[in-house]
Amino acid sequence: MPFSELGLSAKVVAAVEAAGYTEPTPIQAQAIPHALQRRDVLGIAQTGTGKTASFVLPMLTMLETGRARARMPRTLIIEPTRELAAQVEESFVKYGSQHRLNVALLIGGVSFEDQNRKLERGVDVLIATPGRLLDHFERGRLLMTGVEILVIDEADRMLDMGFIPDIERICKMIPFTRQTLFFSATMPPEITRLADQFLQNPVRVEV
Ligand code: AMP
Repeated sequence: MPFSELGLSAKVVAAVEAAGYTEPTPIQAQAIPHALQRRDVLGIAQTGTGKTASFVLPMLTMLETGRARARMPRTLIIEPTRELAAQVEESFVKYGSQHRLNVALLIGGVSFEDQNRKLERGVDVLIATPGRLLDHFERGRLLMTGVEILVIDEADRMLDMGFIPDIERICKMIPFTRQTLFFSATMPPEITRLADQFLQNPVRVEV
C-alpha cells in the first residue's frame, strides 16, 4: 500500500516521498489510519521498525489546522532519554520542513531560559523527558490542559529508568479529551497496567 492511501495530507506524503521512502513499514501501515481517525493506539514495536514516523506523520497532518497559544503546547511527546527526544525532533525537521510548526525540546542539561522563551512563543510539538517537563510545569512555565495529542514512547524503557510515577503525574495533568498514542517494545505487567489506566478503547497494533 502506498503512503498516499493512508489518509495523510498531501504535504506529508510529499515530505515522505522526498525522504525517499516508497512504502510504509508494517507499524506505519497499521497505526497511521487509526491515529488519523483520532483513535488511541497501543503500538508494540521496537526501535528500527519505523515507529517514529508512525506517530510523527499523522501528528503533522492533524497539526495543519489550528494554532499554538503561549505556554499551551498542542501536542506532547514523552521520551525516556535526551538522545531519543533529539531523534524525534529530527524527524519533525525532516518531514515537517514545509509545515511552519514550532517544535521545542525540553530536556535536561541545557538552559531553562531558552526553553522558557520557546514555551512563551507557543509550541505545536513539545518533545520532552519527564524530569525536565515536570520542572518547567512546577515553575509555572506551561499548562498541559491544551494538549490534544499525547505520545508516550518507549514505555518499557521508562519503566527501567524509574519514570512510571512521573508518567502517571503527567498523564493526569492532561484532559481525557486528548488522543493518546502509546508505544512499547515489550508489555510487562506494569506497562499493561499503565496502558489500561491511560488509554481509552485503544487499537492494538503489534509488529
Ligand atoms: P524508527 O524505528 O522510527 O527508529 O526508524 C528506523 C529507521 O527507519 C529510521 O532511520 C527511519 O528514517 C527509517 N524509516 C522509517 N520509515 C521508513 C519507511 N517507510 N521506509 C524506509 N525507511 C523508513
